[in-house]
Amino acid sequence: MKVAIIGAGVGGLGAAVRFANKGHDVTVFEANSHAGGKINNLELGDFRWDMGPSVFTGPEYIKQLYDLCGEDFSTFEYFELENSFNYFFPDGQRFTLPKNKDKLIETFERELGEDGSLVKQYLEKSGKNYKSIAPVFIESSLHRLNHVLTKRLFKALGRLPKYKLSKTMNDENKLKFKNPKTTQIFNRYATYNGSSPFKAPAMLNMIQHLEMNVGVFLPKKGMVQIPRSIQKLAEGQGATFRFEEKVEEILYENKKVKGLRTNKGQYDFDIVVSNMDVAFTYKHLLPHLKTAPKKSLKQEKSTSAIVFYWGINDSFPELGVHNMFFSDDYEEEFNHLFKTKTISEDPSIYVHITSKKKMEDAPEGKENWFVMINSPINVGQDWEKLVPEIKNILLDKLSRHLERDISSLIEEEFVMDPIFIEKTYSGAQGSIYGNASNNKYAAFYRHPNFSKDLKGLYFVGVTVHPGGGIPLALNSAKIAAECFQEDFRN
Ligand SMILES: Cc1cc2nc3c(=O)[nH]c(=O)nc-3n(C[C@H](O)[C@H](O)[C@H](O)COP(=O)(O)OP(=O)(O)OC[C@H]3O[C@@H](n4cnc5c(N)ncnc54)[C@H](O)[C@@H]3O)c2cc1C
Repeated sequence: MKVAIIGAGVGGLGAAVRFANKGHDVTVFEANSHAGGKINNLELGDFRWDMGPSVFTGPEYIKQLYDLCGEDFSTFEYFELENSFNYFFPDGQRFTLPKNKDKLIETFERELGEDGSLVKQYLEKSGKNYKSIAPVFIESSLHRLNHVLTKRLFKALGRLPKYKLSKTMNDENKLKFKNPKTTQIFNRYATYNGSSPFKAPAMLNMIQHLEMNVGVFLPKKGMVQIPRSIQKLAEGQGATFRFEEKVEEILYENKKVKGLRTNKGQYDFDIVVSNMDVAFTYKHLLPHLKTAPKKSLKQEKSTSAIVFYWGINDSFPELGVHNMFFSDDYEEEFNHLFKTKTISEDPSIYVHITSKKKMEDAPEGKENWFVMINSPINVGQDWEKLVPEIKNILLDKLSRHLERDISSLIEEEFVMDPIFIEKTYSGAQGSIYGNASNNKYAAFYRHPNFSKDLKGLYFVGVTVHPGGGIPLALNSAKIAAECFQEDFRN
């Protein structure tokens, strides 16, 4: 069959591998000149940065693609970090969370006065829950009975009450831990799919399993190694890529897709897989379709981000690859993001520095800082005015914590804001993950990986089921390919 994929984000790339591997004639249309979508590269002067994702978890989902193609996964070079995060609190306390489980638990005991056995229990529970819930909620469709009604469902249901479905992530963490700082650390994982821990269901506390139980990794050539390797796999399976070719319309007739119109031409296809933000797929590519799923598309959107890419003319031994400078009032920070769509005067700041591990990303004695805060989606704020104000807030806070004037050390700078995300990656209102998971039914409101109205139309990427992050986007491709197999078995 002739399969068109709209977008070469990690979800589209995963789909390209899976459909091509089944012998289909796959063409990927990508509006930009590179594969990877938000997994993008930036080079300025002697510095290099990963522009988007920085926390690489779940390499096994990439291995699945190598295995499928019969390729050797050891050629995908990556390593595990010995520490996950360095934490900096407003009162000056700072510590590093090591990868080693015993040392990690010891750190929670020593630094935050937690009962080590309770922390151990919490981590083990997350692991067990992930293993039983992921096969149903992450690795298969929630919108097809034959996917849901399996033995795995009963295993997963057995664990659901342990999450007390009406509780939020914060409710559960606050109950579990003595020290509000521990709660703040575990609440943070809500932001991994652009949600608020004060609204997201406690079930999402299992997100940290991939980081604290399994580990945080870094590809040797930067995050862009992920899309570049998957693109190579797809090409090896016969997929063709058409870069700088933007899809403008999905063509259909009698409730069945029949092709695409791009800025360069019109093509016939039997199957179309959209990796474009699902809200924009309906709005821009299917503007006349009357049956767009209104409820799913109306859900609260996930957060956006503002990132400053700074080439820093010095080195900071107190910083690691991943560093979090927390705000004083975490709840207020999320009220700003979701309620008032503003940014608090004391936002939590994430600083990511790959040159700590890969010296070629910055010259000797210098560092490549990726400085990010979560931001509300674009609802017409004056970003040109806001961004310089935010920059000053960040510089003040980082200079205070690190006891050095950071502004005088910036040699190179690039800024990404919600408008950039919306324009460059076609993310609706600059949201990174589509819908937020800010209510207990969010998983069910996420758009399915197939269209209920148009035969032959499938959806992949973080804006559809199962949701945010590279591992989940790769799973969306697996689920879409499985749904296609079922639909076109005969
Ligand atoms: C600042 C930032 C930090 C992040 N941090 C992390 C992290 O640490 N870990 C993590 O796992 N995830 C992180 N993410 C989320 C991450 O980007 C996703 O996990 C993943 O990369 C998204 O993949 P996707 O398949 O949804 O596609 P996207 O990356 O959204 O790509 C979609 C592609 O479709 C193309 N496209 C759209 N419309 C069209 C059209 N009409 N025609 C042709 N092409 C089109 C776009 O150009 C784009 O290339 C972060 C994102 C950002 C922005």
